[in-house]
Amino acid sequence: MADIIQLLPDHVANQIAAGEVVQRPASVVKELLENAIDAGADVIKLIVKDAGKTLIQVIDDGKGMSVTDARLSFERHATSKIRNADDLFKLNTKGFRGEALASIAAIAHVELKTKQDTDDVGTCIVIEGSEVTSQDVVVTPKGTSISVKNLFFNIPARRNFLKSNTVELRHIIDEFHRVALAHPSISFSLYNNGSETFNLPVSNYRQRIVNIFGNKTNEKLVPVEEDTEVLKISGFVGKPEFAKKTRGEQYFFVNNRFIKSAYLNHAILSAFEGLLKNGTHPSYFLNLEVNPQTIDINIHPTKTEIKFDDEHTLYAILRSAVKHSLGQFNIAPVLDFERDATLDTPYNLKGSRTEAPKIEVDSNFNPFQESKPPREQQNSSFKKAPSEHWESLYVGLESKSNGSASNFSELTFESEESTSSLFETKVTPDKANATYQFHNKYIISAIKSGMLIIDQSRAHQRILYEDFLKDITVKEGVSQQLLFPLQLHFSSQELEIVKQLQGDLEHTGFVFSNVTEESIEIKGVPVMVPESEISIILEQLISDVQNEVPDANFSATDLLAKSMAKSLAIKTGQSLQKDEQEHIVNKLFACKEPNVSPTNRVTFITVGVDELDKKFI
Ligand code: ADP
Ligand code: MG
Repeated sequence: MADIIQLLPDHVANQIAAGEVVQRPASVVKELLENAIDAGADVIKLIVKDAGKTLIQVIDDGKGMSVTDARLSFERHATSKIRNADDLFKLNTKGFRGEALASIAAIAHVELKTKQDTDDVGTCIVIEGSEVTSQDVVVTPKGTSISVKNLFFNIPARRNFLKSNTVELRHIIDEFHRVALAHPSISFSLYNNGSETFNLPVSNYRQRIVNIFGNKTNEKLVPVEEDTEVLKISGFVGKPEFAKKTRGEQYFFVNNRFIKSAYLNHAILSAFEGLLKNGTHPSYFLNLEVNPQTIDINIHPTKTEIKFDDEHTLYAILRSAVKHSLGQFNIAPVLDFERDATLDTPYNLKGSRTEAPKIEVDSNFNPFQESKPPREQQNSSFKKAPSEHWESLYVGLESKSNGSASNFSELTFESEESTSSLFETKVTPDKANATYQFHNKYIISAIKSGMLIIDQSRAHQRILYEDFLKDITVKEGVSQQLLFPLQLHFSSQELEIVKQLQGDLEHTGFVFSNVTEESIEIKGVPVMVPESEISIILEQLISDVQNEVPDANFSATDLLAKSMAKSLAIKTGQSLQKDEQEHIVNKLFACKEPNVSPTNRVTFITVGVDELDKKFI
């Protein structure tokens, strides 16, 4: 039989490719604006007629093209932006596929005028349906002007498929906003049917947002800043009371590129939890800066989706940064009793503002004591701070809330619908009241509105868990040397697990001297681990790892912290001294998420005086 496979002619291949790149006029706008930015333009002008169906023109003052490049730019896979596959992983340009101009020229009438700074004259190329119809020398300013007329002139089905001018213009303006928001240091203007719709001068980010969305926006913005090794965040979120019924103003930019991410959007929503009216959506304008090698922008042809290496961490940092900003600006309480059970709190924000409020201790003050020195504890894993007292609960809070809330009970929400039941009960421990241990299981104390009952074991687990997580992620667990190194034997399977966790264990304070095929030698352990408990802790850890069903939220560090907290926490049945009880209460309420144990069990309840009163009727 005869051979039947043929190579498609270029113009047909281009038309097919165009289907992917150019869905509507707005796609052309996006490609042309991005090319202008890649060309280093300072001023970019966009002109459209009939929502881009008749004309889309982009004029820039960028670096322009040589005669040869001008011609080559319309070839498929012709790009100046990457040279080899490696370049794909260090992209700092918008384009890289070299497909846009070829695709656009396949389905429209295109005129390109371009001139480089060093040249006296420029080049003008007219190309229609991939056919170059003319190429001339022209007098034109430095930079590039590309006009695209009669889009889809040769694919009537696509042209008919376009929506009304109102809808298509909406899409164009959306693209224009995205590009303009990502580049406040470039001046942009947009002319629609001869009239100027936007004129955005060079400005800072806040001004750019205000210039686009109107002066009223200014008062609605809350700054968000965070700088960690893996992620730098800058930008703004809208105050909750201005949240919109539609999901309009939600912008993520990753390395100056607009992206859509349902996952990161969820991080923001969870930071706003409890602050939004039902059915409203918060606004946000957030720039995320990550190492280009840790993202893959290549998974979607129109490039608004992106794949991150470590989405889970980004989620946690983003959520915490937004939460913190809302708290700092007094929009939400700083002490947050809401817990998202699926997530660890990110503790790797070393030196950042998200750390738990500091407890300042007046070491001379002990409300329960005559003046006896605190009892020494030898064999307990329990670190005590005997002189911490209820007052210390407020020290961190005051400074965190811009001085406007002088104590916990005065912390209020700014937006009306944001009260949570826990806050209504106002957990305000009464300074004058001692703690009381009940059945060697609960610690009881008075609060303004009634009674606070804390489960001692769960509370201590929460405290240790947050301590360990911090040690692991901030990498500063303090170690104590063992007098004699301890050798522990494990099966090869168990050892494999220990090796996987070795790095994290070391951050908590473990020091391993010799790890072989069947044993490990331990030279040092975290200060809070008594020597007698070492093997039990590791065995518990191994069994926890083996029993864990890894899912999307699985994190080895989280599990390690949970497991160690469980092993070391004081147990039900253990009798506690007064100062130990106080220590637990103080430390618990300095935790980020005091109301649940690491395994999501309730750590304390409150019983209101009114509830008690009812019982005495
Ligand atoms: P890509 O942007 O993926 O490289 P395009 O088809 O959009 O592919 O553009 C092809 C090439 O044409 C670019 O790599 C660039 O060298 C050149 N080019 C396109 N637009 C401009 C412009 N406005 N100014 C200068 N050069 C441009
Ligand atoms: Mg391009």
